[in-house]
Amino acid sequence: MKYISTRGNAPALSFEEAMLAGLARDGGLYVPKNVSERRHDEIAALPGMSYEEVAYWLMRPFIGESFSAEELRTIIERAYAGFGHAARAPLVQLGPNHFLLELFHGPTLAFKDFAMQLIGQMFQTALAKRGERITIVGATSGDTGSAAIEAFRGLDNVDVFILFPHGRVSEVQRRQMTTPTESNVHALAVDGDFDDCQARLKDMFNHFEFRDAVGLAGVNSINWARVLAQVVYYFTAASSLGAPLRPVSFTVPTGNFGDIFAGYIARKLGLPIEKLVIATNQNDILHRTLETGSYTKAEVTPSISPSMDIQVSSNFERVLFDAYGRDGAVVAEQMADLASGGFTISQGAIDFLRAEFASGTASEDETRATIKAIWETTGQVICPHTAVGVKVAGEHLGATPMITLATAHPAKFPDAVREASGQDVPLPPRMADLFDRDERVTRVPNDLAAIEALIRERTGR
Ligand SMILES: *Cc1c(COP(=O)(O)O)cnc(C)c1O
Repeated sequence: MKYISTRGNAPALSFEEAMLAGLARDGGLYVPKNVSERRHDEIAALPGMSYEEVAYWLMRPFIGESFSAEELRTIIERAYAGFGHAARAPLVQLGPNHFLLELFHGPTLAFKDFAMQLIGQMFQTALAKRGERITIVGATSGDTGSAAIEAFRGLDNVDVFILFPHGRVSEVQRRQMTTPTESNVHALAVDGDFDDCQARLKDMFNHFEFRDAVGLAGVNSINWARVLAQVVYYFTAASSLGAPLRPVSFTVPTGNFGDIFAGYIARKLGLPIEKLVIATNQNDILHRTLETGSYTKAEVTPSISPSMDIQVSSNFERVLFDAYGRDGAVVAEQMADLASGGFTISQGAIDFLRAEFASGTASEDETRATIKAIWETTGQVICPHTAVGVKVAGEHLGATPMITLATAHPAKFPDAVREASGQDVPLPPRMADLFDRDERVTRVPNDLAAIEALIRERTGR
């Protein structure tokens, strides 16, 4: 299987090469050259298989020659061994025909562990074979960074630097990034918002001299390997509820469009997904884009669901590429327009997007009211991101089972959860001493040269 860039102007790569590269050299994102439907009888055989077995079945054709069958099995086993639930991604019922897919049983209590734990094992296997050392730089609105650090801490061939917006992540998120003691881990607090962090990261990737000097690699949600990891739980969840014989719908709390893009891939692979609903918080660029056909950046307004406080939604480029019939030149043009504020999507492309996705948004008050209502009606405490999803899912319930992705554990956002529901949710025992550990963090300006200089000094490259 080959991977091509959404901007049509970079070499096609193998799975391993695309994984190590992250962003393509033309600024685009890698996507599989073709995604074809899986056989109905294979999908029908998924119930009863373990999460790891489904993951192997799903990923094998996408990996090509990059890992042997044996290597891939070992990678998957190791990736999910540290999860706190035997099902890995269990379903719980929330109301009539409405289910929550709990994606927070990994080591950092958010769904990003599904991708990051896998990618950590994949990088380690690939780099050991190549005898190479790389520098991973990631930008995070909170959860990616802690998941990346948890996945790469102490690995031999990797230095990991995480840029996060100073003062805009929750204390649990920050401490998960600043308390690991391994010397290959570097948490950088940037004076800016998440879009600034993401923009500096893109700048580094487009600065080829720096990129080559430090062996820069990305693990942000633009990395195809992460998207692939996330497709798995769409299959396990849907097949538990009767797919492929019975269709299901999903609602996905979204910021960077990574998780919901995985759902779109699941549908292309033949999973009968009736509705795929985008749920945004007050930073509702994706919802507005579907409504108006115009993708126009606004200021980021901090919310109680900070991992979705995003205006530039990187993975959206991947679906735009399909919406424009895989014309990389058009995508490149639109992305250039984005730099100056936004772009208008063609009628054909917006029709495509509206056929694939529904959308909705939740205000801060609606998010809090949903946390409270779910606590009162089910005894479950949900995190604010999940609450955004549950609120929007409520507008799309019907005869088809709805599965809302529960993207983080409520203990990761204790203040918002307490304010909304009156409940204190303890951290799981394995993290109970998080608030007693020493923090190690470097504050940096929102300035490319300063950040690059720091990385070169720390890595000695
Ligand atoms: C990252 C994150 C999201 C948004 O996911 P995207 O892939 O960026 O759309 C939602 N909820 C939580 C808890 C997250 O960490």
